[in-house]
Amino acid sequence: MEKRKIIDCRKLPSESNCTLTISGKEEEVLPLAVHHVVTVHGHEDTPELKEQLKAKLEDE
Ligand SMILES: [Zn+2]
Repeated sequence: MEKRKIIDCRKLPSESNCTLTISGKEEEVLPLAVHHVVTVHGHEDTPELKEQLKAKLEDE
C-alpha cells in the first residue's frame, strides 16, 4: 500500500484555530492543503506557501 502523508493544521500558523488534518498521497494532500489554508486560514496563494506546506508534511 502506498504511504500516506499528513498535514496537521494545529502545526500551521492559523488564526482560525483550525484542527483539521489532511492525509493522502503527497500529490493529493498538497493542492488540498494550499486551497484550505488560502480559503480558511486566509494565506496568500504563493509558491512560498506551497513550499512551507510541503515542509510540514509528515509520514502517517
Ligand atoms: Zn486549517
